[in-house]
Amino acid sequence: MGKKHHQDITVNMGRLRTDIERFAEIGRGEDGGIYRMGFSAADFEARNALRTTLKDAGLHAELDGAGNVLGRIEASTNSPSLMVGSHLDSVPAAGRLDGALGVLCGLECLRRIHEEAIDTLRPIELVAFSDEEGRFGGMFGSRAMAGELNPDILETTVDLSGVSLAEAMTERGLEPLKALAARRSPESVFAYIELHIEQGPLLDRLGKSLAVVGAITGLSKWSIKLKGEADHAGTTPMSMRKDAFAGLAEFAGEVPRVLEEHGGEGSVATIGRVTLHPGTANTVPGIADFTLDVRDESAVTLAALTDAFRLTLSAIARRRGLMFEFDILSEVAPVQCDTRIVEVIVDVAKDFDIDPHVMPSGAAHDAQVMARLAPTGMIFVPSVGGRSHSPAEWTHWEDIEMGANVLLQTVLRLAQTERCEES
Ligand SMILES: [Zn+2]
Repeated sequence: MGKKHHQDITVNMGRLRTDIERFAEIGRGEDGGIYRMGFSAADFEARNALRTTLKDAGLHAELDGAGNVLGRIEASTNSPSLMVGSHLDSVPAAGRLDGALGVLCGLECLRRIHEEAIDTLRPIELVAFSDEEGRFGGMFGSRAMAGELNPDILETTVDLSGVSLAEAMTERGLEPLKALAARRSPESVFAYIELHIEQGPLLDRLGKSLAVVGAITGLSKWSIKLKGEADHAGTTPMSMRKDAFAGLAEFAGEVPRVLEEHGGEGSVATIGRVTLHPGTANTVPGIADFTLDVRDESAVTLAALTDAFRLTLSAIARRRGLMFEFDILSEVAPVQCDTRIVEVIVDVAKDFDIDPHVMPSGAAHDAQVMARLAPTGMIFVPSVGGRSHSPAEWTHWEDIEMGANVLLQTVLRLAQTERCEES
């Protein structure tokens, strides 16, 4: 077997570029945005195109019960697989790279390894997950693979327009309950690697062409109600008001201080929705209903921030004679990427003369779910202007090429590694 030095092998950029442009046409709307929502006809057109492309390249291709497309290169031994992938579904009016880039770069890695007939120690699998973006709750395909679905979820989930998950799956020729069979045992997956666009402005701002993700941030999202008294805006003296909005405004002003005192370097907090009641110009607001979304890569910091925000709000409410209610909307634990895989990616990047930035991912990804199944790593390429979830989403071709080559070398190294210690 004429084994090659891995460093000699790079992606076929012309072919990768053609793929990216070809998939960008699938589900494209008149506004230039991509409409490939989970289990839609366009989503499955893309999934079928991927299966055909895999087969044309001489690779094994299949669709599992959850709608995930899987490609595979066998190895000489029947050991656990190294998986590489991302998602093919999109939000409405999406850009062309979110998800698709990771899948198509992974596809190119498999094709190059197959073409060069490189013998790897373990099988390499490509995965294009279904409904990552959340038409039916999000990260559906990876949750199926991690064994986190149950018949109740499959039977009761509906999208915003009232279409049930079961109906949508049936329409695509899938049997809903068979999604449970997409489950994989931890013993069958050696590691999972995902390349994704950053979807934020940091790399573009720093002028870096690549980052290694150290952790995927967790979040706590609350719905908060401050309650005062709705009184006449003309007759109630300032000193006698219980103005819920004034309390919210004071709280919003305290957010930077709380983050500085209790947060980490990358902590963020957002008040994204505010509703005032009764909401008329001549009435003191009696109720301020708002959301608070807090994110950090450390579970400890996230808990400390939760406590601090609660205390701050309670002090403000007490001083202003307001009541408050705190309801948890969602809580997602942060996920640490595997330290050994982070090291491998950093080493590979250095071989390409890149000093990669190590940063957390502020957005959720399939990698977050896959980390519960296997050691996981992520590579980020820059998003021009930080734009994402928009037709303006873009990454320079040379950065895509660099990312794809770092992914290829990372895949090759991990597919040859004997063991992958968990962090
Ligand atoms: Zn994505």
